[in-house]
Amino acid sequence: MTRLLTDLPQPRLLEALSEASVVVQPIGALEQHGPHLPVSTDLVIPEEIGARAVERAAASGVDAWLLPPIAASKSDEHHAYPGTIWMEASTIWNTLVDVGRSVAATPARTLVFLNGHGGNSALLQVVNREIRRRFGLRTFSMGTGTQRAGGAANGGPDEFGMGIHAGHSETSLMLALRPDLVDMSRAVRNVPEHIAAFETIGFNGYPVSFGWTSDDFGASGVVGDPTGATAAYGEELVAEGVDFVARALGEIAAFRHAA
Ligand SMILES: [Zn+2]
Repeated sequence: MTRLLTDLPQPRLLEALSEASVVVQPIGALEQHGPHLPVSTDLVIPEEIGARAVERAAASGVDAWLLPPIAASKSDEHHAYPGTIWMEASTIWNTLVDVGRSVAATPARTLVFLNGHGGNSALLQVVNREIRRRFGLRTFSMGTGTQRAGGAANGGPDEFGMGIHAGHSETSLMLALRPDLVDMSRAVRNVPEHIAAFETIGFNGYPVSFGWTSDDFGASGVVGDPTGATAAYGEELVAEGVDFVARALGEIAAFRHAA
């Protein structure tokens, strides 16, 4: 049976959904990913991980349903690279609120944003509350669980914890999912190593964050080291991601704010 909600006729869709249903909205991005990965990288990953994880969760008894992905989102950090199709924060904000309003009109009470692009994370945390307050849905947002900092520990090159864009993990993922779209002969390393020396300032998990656009780190559009990427490592990340998202959907289905 299909888990893609929009494959159903509207009356069947309403019958299929209940208070227990978990509706998953993948969010992609269409943005430059260096000279070696397709612009659709951040769309391919959440679409693939989402489809597999929803199947897995449904097989274990979670009434999980998938919406087609939103292809483009808040990729303004890649504005300097034509070919990036990016939305203003207000555009994606309004789009997600509209999805929330629409899902709230069905019997489903739970909406999950499965985010394929880090640039949306802060906005998603805010939109979770907006949709909760305005439409009463239980709202959640998460990544695909596939991003790891490259390092000797996982057989990759050292990215100093900064393999955030088109680097080791993302390139390996694409070698696993869509090798036909990857051109390793054009992969280049670009790691802003000097930033690793700051103790309080960094990309993720640091107490001080900073504004940036991807051209701040050089012309290649890469932040990380894709040169040692392998399909085998990508398969590991895919398995981890599917496992993580399926497990999270199980917890989300059981989650209630009050005991
Ligand atoms: Zn990406």
